[in-house]
Amino acid sequence: MADHFEVIVVGAGPAGNSAALTLAKAGLDVLQLERAEYPGAKTGQGSLLWAPALEQLVPDFRTQAPLERYIVERYVWTLDEAAHSGTRDWTSRSSATSDRYTVLRAPFDAWFSSALKGAGVRVSFATTVTEVIREDDGRVIGVRTAGGREFYADAVILAEGVESLVARQSGLREDVHPQSVALTVKELRRLPRHLLEDRFKVQGDDGVVFELAGTFAAGVAGQGFIYTNRESLSVGVGCMVDDIVKSELTPSELLTCFKRHPSIRPLLADSDVVDFSAVLSPEGGYRVRPKLFGEGWLVCGDAMQPGSPVLREGATLALTSGRLAAETVVELARHGRPMSARHLSLYRDKLERSAILRSLRKAGSGGGSVDEEATFGRSDPRRLGRASRALSSDAADGKGRQRRLLRQFARGGSREQEFEGAA
Ligand SMILES: Cc1cc2nc3c(=O)[nH]c(=O)nc-3n(C[C@H](O)[C@H](O)[C@H](O)COP(=O)(O)OP(=O)(O)OC[C@H]3O[C@@H](n4cnc5c(N)ncnc54)[C@H](O)[C@@H]3O)c2cc1C
Repeated sequence: MADHFEVIVVGAGPAGNSAALTLAKAGLDVLQLERAEYPGAKTGQGSLLWAPALEQLVPDFRTQAPLERYIVERYVWTLDEAAHSGTRDWTSRSSATSDRYTVLRAPFDAWFSSALKGAGVRVSFATTVTEVIREDDGRVIGVRTAGGREFYADAVILAEGVESLVARQSGLREDVHPQSVALTVKELRRLPRHLLEDRFKVQGDDGVVFELAGTFAAGVAGQGFIYTNRESLSVGVGCMVDDIVKSELTPSELLTCFKRHPSIRPLLADSDVVDFSAVLSPEGGYRVRPKLFGEGWLVCGDAMQPGSPVLREGATLALTSGRLAAETVVELARHGRPMSARHLSLYRDKLERSAILRSLRKAGSGGGSVDEEATFGRSDPRRLGRASRALSSDAADGKGRQRRLLRQFARGGSREQEFEGAA
């Protein structure tokens, strides 16, 4: 393998795949390095996917990608330890505001990866990047791997997920703080198709999601979810890392409390665990965002620490930021401009203009308390439930309604009718 490329992409999650595909489609010579042994190796789990974000990359994905179910029904529940209250929304396939599918990450990532190879990306799995290589003046000119190999490029895109090991080890960002990271414990549970369709009252490839917020175990507030796949359920519950530490519950005890909840237990009956994992996700919101670019490098996806508990669209943000990082590099390459921090600042402009980052900034500026108070339902799970419901109905389209809702949320959310109206 040659050791010089126009662009190196670190990571083969949604952000890295989106960046690599965009670059390759524009004719650039791309190397993608991924530490897992094969695509989706560490993500045998389900996810909700907002269709327009993928459609911009692969217009005919609906006929190509391994999709599980199309979401036609969404339940939003707030829970206390014994009961729940909530809403149920139904949408038709022609609705533009809720165009979502459930996917299983392992087959989905495998499909995405094969699309990359088809587009000409050189992909190397089982390759862990340890650090970036810099010139004396600090400019990033390549990466070094755990196997001692060195690869060089005009630009390096870091799409390495929430832990950001390469960026941290290379001094490109500070450590990730427990106050800005959530831990989610999740299971994939097999449920025979006829039982699933009977229980959730769906047919064909129609599906249902449950978005849950509240207190699942004594003194611990968090968020949970249940997504229907074809013949399985994706089930998870998450809390801020420092809250779990304070509660002295282990992650699996937290999941057990969640599954035993009287409102949750009947939904999971007769299902068996096929996969279990505990994963970190960024929840700091706009304010903890690290540096997004520098001399010869850019960061996208979860590595940007973009998460906000009110958005729940990490994969959408990853696909979008990966595409925008790549479009920035393509634009500079086309005009023969160097990949300097000054020119790469175009990436920040693109992110600022994108609906999703604008939404995050609104969350961060809604009276200065949203990040802190919304964080996984710490202060008032009922407020979080209302805000989540309102925001997830149009989180990605940047409508002005979000700002109004977030301001209310920051103030205390007493005008509930506006939330009701948005759901
Ligand atoms: C429980 C849970 C449920 C979620 N559900 C949803 C959902 O329903 N909808 C949604 O939109 N989002 C969801 N998300 C968020 C979503 O999964 C993430 O936002 C998304 O995966 C981020 O993509 P990414 O490419 O930035 O990072 P990742 O998906 O984490 O990918 C990073 C990749 O980089 C690789 N890597 C890391 N370090 C190195 C290294 N040093 N060298 C080489 N490779 C490296 C990793 O192996 C990994 O493959 C969920 C997250 C969690 C935790």
